[in-house]
Amino acid sequence: MDLRQQYYLQTIGIQRWVLRQQPESETEIESPLPVTTPVSSYASLDWDTLQQQVAGCTACALHASRKQTVFGAGNKTADWLIIGEAPGAEEDAQGEPFVGRAGKLLNNMLKAIGLEREQVYIANILKCRPPNNRDPQPEEARQCSAYLARQIELIAPKIILAIGRIAAQKLLDTDQAIGRLRGVVHQLPEYNIPVVVTYHPAYLLRKPSEKRKAWQDLLLAYHTRNMQN
Ligand code: SF4
Repeated sequence: MDLRQQYYLQTIGIQRWVLRQQPESETEIESPLPVTTPVSSYASLDWDTLQQQVAGCTACALHASRKQTVFGAGNKTADWLIIGEAPGAEEDAQGEPFVGRAGKLLNNMLKAIGLEREQVYIANILKCRPPNNRDPQPEEARQCSAYLARQIELIAPKIILAIGRIAAQKLLDTDQAIGRLRGVVHQLPEYNIPVVVTYHPAYLLRKPSEKRKAWQDLLLAYHTRNMQN
């Protein structure tokens, strides 16, 4: 372990570098879960056109209260796709996903497994901020799902890390608690992409005692990615 990795591990609350070990939790491959079917009208869009469509989208009521859309950011050919819930106030202001304290912790979580933020792609279930950071409503998530589906198709990642309960539930089309979704490698059947679920960094900032579980999730994702081609 080099000193930089040791530092990043410490910032996410982990004192020991155990990347070459198997995660403590048992890994199982869960049967395929449904995923939102991409809307055909977006199925052939390239990145620029898709981003323009999102920037001008008024498909749900969230367009009225947003400062700007938050399309996503990062490497468009990344092996790793990080998917969160929706923009918060700082993301809405800056037009970037995962900024502020939670974004900094996410960066350090990624660095702990040897990834720079620029190496991954980061997107959200919703491209516009829900007022007062409330949970996305089902119709909002449904309207926005085609954009994320097209991003997944364009990136064709080797692994998806779902960040937080809402992202995991919407992506996997389930109402199971995040505690049951963690520790398992899910699959997006239409895409045959493994999905690993972990806690949202904003939650980890409120509850640092859960960082050890997040580290187990990162190890599971790391090993799962390394099992791909
Ligand atoms: S949240 Fe998605 S569907 Fe709703 S207005 Fe924004 S981009 Fe369009």
